[in-house]
Amino acid sequence: MTRTLPSILITGTPGCGKTTLSSKIATLYPEFQHIDVSQLVKEKELHDGLDKEFDSLLFDEDKVIDELESVVPNGGCIVDFHSCDFFPETWFDLVIVLRSDNTVLYDRLAKRNYSVKKITENIECEIMQVVLDEAMDAYAKEMVVELNNNTTEDMDSNVDRIMEWIKAFQSK
Ligand code: ADP
Ligand code: MN
Repeated sequence: MTRTLPSILITGTPGCGKTTLSSKIATLYPEFQHIDVSQLVKEKELHDGLDKEFDSLLFDEDKVIDELESVVPNGGCIVDFHSCDFFPETWFDLVIVLRSDNTVLYDRLAKRNYSVKKITENIECEIMQVVLDEAMDAYAKEMVVELNNNTTEDMDSNVDRIMEWIKAFQSK
């Protein structure tokens, strides 16, 4: 598939900074569309109800794919979601996995008033690098880039890095 603009997946454990980073890129590059998949799942009810145990919506992979398959493969999308292995590999040119330290993640999730159970679950997910492994299994290694995202300096450097990558893609 040839695209004028790349489509980029930004994934990682909840709280690692996906939405903040994606919004910054979409602001700098207005030709890109930021797709916050969690938001979309809520708005368009692409789920099978609430998982009471973890207090989270059980998103429906097929419904998410149906909703996005006419958009993301065309390019120019920044797709922001905590799960990554169910998207077709061909949709993306770059897969960013954001990583945050436990203490940083703890503070960010506590601010969301998540239950202790939900915070613990997410921190364990980050320690076990669940999302990174998922991305490594689902996409070609050259497409997957792991970026630390703890501080505002990290955020600035991540924005710069992705901007450079987009420029390189466009000049290919
Ligand atoms: P996600 O979309 O991955 O769940 P968010 O983008 O909502 O994460 O970020 C969670 C919280 O962490 C927000 O309050 C955000 O402002 C903060 N945050 C994200 N990235 C950074 C960073 N690099 N430095 C400091 N705070 C950050
Ligand atoms: Mn988010």
